[in-house]
Amino acid sequence: MRKEAAGWLFTRTLIFVVAMAAVTACRSVDAPPAESLQFISIEEAAELPNIERAGFDIDDTLLFSTPAFDVGQASSHAYDSEPFWTLVNGSDRGNSRVKLSTRQIVERYQARGIPIYAITARSGFGGDGLKSFISDELGIPANHVFFEPDGKADRIRSLRLDVYFGDSDSDIEDAMDAEAKPVRIQRSPKSSYRNKDGSLRKYQPGRYGEAVVADSEN
Ligand SMILES: [Mg+2]
Repeated sequence: MRKEAAGWLFTRTLIFVVAMAAVTACRSVDAPPAESLQFISIEEAAELPNIERAGFDIDDTLLFSTPAFDVGQASSHAYDSEPFWTLVNGSDRGNSRVKLSTRQIVERYQARGIPIYAITARSGFGGDGLKSFISDELGIPANHVFFEPDGKADRIRSLRLDVYFGDSDSDIEDAMDAEAKPVRIQRSPKSSYRNKDGSLRKYQPGRYGEAVVADSEN
């Protein structure tokens, strides 16, 4: 009897150890350790070869726009409603700021004569405010700014972008889906784009083995 109990304990321990090893292995696929991230410098990101058309995400990539979202959150409008987006899309001017790191990359591409496109997952209600802000601040034409709340892959594909810069896991997934080179921009630790537990949402740099731009939080 005792021998059987000891054998069962051994079996349970073995199952536990194997299960923990499996969990650890899965985690390491999802979130690679920092030392295995493939970092490139801002300069390298700006000088990528064989690029004819380049695309950028907007929130936490071109802009630190948490202050514009704060305006929406502080209002009485329900999140994701038409009045919410009309307010947020009209609140970048005076609240959001262009990120220093991506400004350098955009300006270098413009100097190389490469057309730039901006694609956001925001809804397009009241979108002219955001378009004119992006145009005035970064010289990206208003008709190069697209709102794609249902996913960006089709737009990246139809614009035939060679590279797409973004901070979220979904930016990298959509770029890969559309066969553009994905490049990760790091999200500001001050961003409000978070899960309920406080962790940054959809944000695992290097998850897909993509290049990560160093020093691109700001
Ligand atoms: Mg973003």
